[in-house]
Amino acid sequence: MSIVSSPIRNILVERYPSRVVPRGALSHIAEELGVSAQRVHKLAKEMGVRVCVKQEQPFYECVCGKVQRSQRLCPACRFVEIPCVHCGRPVRRLTSEVVAALHSNAYRAGKRLPEYQGRVFCDRRCFRAWATRVRDQRRWTARDERLRALLEDRYPDRVIPWGLAPALSGEMGIPQSTFRAVARRMGWAFAARVPT
Ligand SMILES: [Zn+2]
Ligand SMILES: [Zn+2]
Repeated sequence: MSIVSSPIRNILVERYPSRVVPRGALSHIAEELGVSAQRVHKLAKEMGVRVCVKQEQPFYECVCGKVQRSQRLCPACRFVEIPCVHCGRPVRRLTSEVVAALHSNAYRAGKRLPEYQGRVFCDRRCFRAWATRVRDQRRWTARDERLRALLEDRYPDRVIPWGLAPALSGEMGIPQSTFRAVARRMGWAFAARVPT
């Protein structure tokens, strides 16, 4: 008995120093040594070896309601598609990253950082194109305001005398064609040449 028991003991001590063995391990050792499973179980019991009973994993519910084993989002919910701000094509993003970014606004406000707007771009090209467009629009708005102020001040009756467009556009520092187009859009008319 002790002759057979000794290799069993050695294996158990060597492989499972914590004296906890996974389910099926004892039968496996019996097979390995060509002895009966009962014999291995008996010795293991004598040695105080415990068989670990795997705990039943709980179920979790994804935000979409899908019941699953994992605590993570289900594969379908793991990514979101957000349209590119510039071209509108859908861009795939990790849901967790988007949520984390949106939640960072309280922190950003504390650090006086600009608020995260959730803007998404396909690539650097789309980002640059968008940034240029926004910058131009700001410039145009500022230019229009200056032009309107000048015209309201000098020509409140909304008629620009004949022959003044070149001088006024020069004063504003914009091309004459732009000056004429913007002035017309704002409701000013250009007086015709008075016959002499
Ligand atoms: Zn889901
Ligand atoms: Zn894009």
